[in-house]
Amino acid sequence: MQSKNYKKSEKYFDLSKKYIPGGVNSPVRAARAVHCDPVFIKSALGSKIYDVDGNEYIDYVCSWGPAILGHAYPTVTEKVKKALKKGLSFGAPTKKEYILAEMINEAMPVMEQVRLVNSGTEATMSAIRLARGYTKKDLIIKFTGCYHGHSDGLLVKAGSGVLTEAISSSGGVPNDYARDTLVAEFNDSKSVSALFDKYKGKIAAIIVEPVAANMGVVPPKEGFLEFLRKITTENDSLLIFDEVITGFRLAKGGACEYYGIEPDIVTIGKIVGGGMPLAAYGGKKEIMACISPLGDVYQAGTLSGNPIATAAGIATLKELFEHPEIYKNIDESTKTLAEGIEKIMNSDKKRVHINRVGSLMSVFFTAKDVSCYEDVLSCDLDKYASYYRFLRDNGIYIAPSQFEAAFISAAHDSEDIKNTLDVIKRFGGVE
Ligand code: PLP
Repeated sequence: MQSKNYKKSEKYFDLSKKYIPGGVNSPVRAARAVHCDPVFIKSALGSKIYDVDGNEYIDYVCSWGPAILGHAYPTVTEKVKKALKKGLSFGAPTKKEYILAEMINEAMPVMEQVRLVNSGTEATMSAIRLARGYTKKDLIIKFTGCYHGHSDGLLVKAGSGVLTEAISSSGGVPNDYARDTLVAEFNDSKSVSALFDKYKGKIAAIIVEPVAANMGVVPPKEGFLEFLRKITTENDSLLIFDEVITGFRLAKGGACEYYGIEPDIVTIGKIVGGGMPLAAYGGKKEIMACISPLGDVYQAGTLSGNPIATAAGIATLKELFEHPEIYKNIDESTKTLAEGIEKIMNSDKKRVHINRVGSLMSVFFTAKDVSCYEDVLSCDLDKYASYYRFLRDNGIYIAPSQFEAAFISAAHDSEDIKNTLDVIKRFGGVE
């Protein structure tokens, strides 16, 4: 098929690059990893997204997760419209904040108390501060390949060799800031035990994506999350589940419900804001009592609990609560998609490895099983780039990076899945 016309996108990208670094407000959007320029989006509805040149795509990015109901879902946009008329921000408590917090608690009982913030980054940053304030310990453990937003202490990677402290993975983050972050390997219990042995009594918390979804989708091995629960309890450390992606996606109660684990603190974002800037962290009352104004762990926000964002969040959760079949449906759609891709790509030879948990999925361009970051690094990124460009030219919008998840929404119907598989069938360039 002829490449689509991207003329207006190209023009807007040139203009954007003049005033915005790299032309984008979040790096992966620039599509550099897939060797092309981004398309500029004009609108989105249901499972489709439309660019400024009038091209239509079946959207598997779904705003990186929030759009679980599909784009511009009627009851959500109606509630937002209604809220808009009453004012955009008050900087004072509102009834909607309490209602949303109560709904979050209903879905995730471990979040006995909840603090609303504006982004996943704020939620994880605040959760770490809280864990340190509560335990009076400084060190935290994160996992290679897990992403928890862009706060200084979490933008770190493992130093050379095992058991090293982390070093910063971003310019502008002094190594001193990264010093208190230890890095272990996802799905490798031994690497965690070794850190607890070496830093006995000093580790405040482990923060983990219960299903890693920022190195592509990597599910936890059986027993791994249980192990993290056990070792943190034994060492008077806290377990933080970063459910910014998995919260309200894997199940009403997120990964906590899906895997039957009770962490001490949970962070959520994306779906809970229904597409608006809203996220939250929460945990047991005793821990949350450390947060100001009750305790001495400071955290605040001019726009926190914003009335428009809470309206979108409440309307989204209400829909999910009233229609629990959504979870079964999106699981089924994603399963059909994953099985279809498996058949097309791997029928005569293993070309890709597909990981899927519920409605989160990644097609890794490697023949290896993928269960940690090192496995992800074996992927053929150029092949992914040509796959991305072929799909986009043929009306399928996937993440412009191998290291991201595909998100399937309740609006993706069997025709969308069939059309997607038809395009993938025509993609011959995997050799
Ligand atoms: N935690 C996880 C697991 C994420 O996937 C992300 C973002 O994708 C964040 C935290 C940061 O959230 P935000 O981009 O809203 O700051």
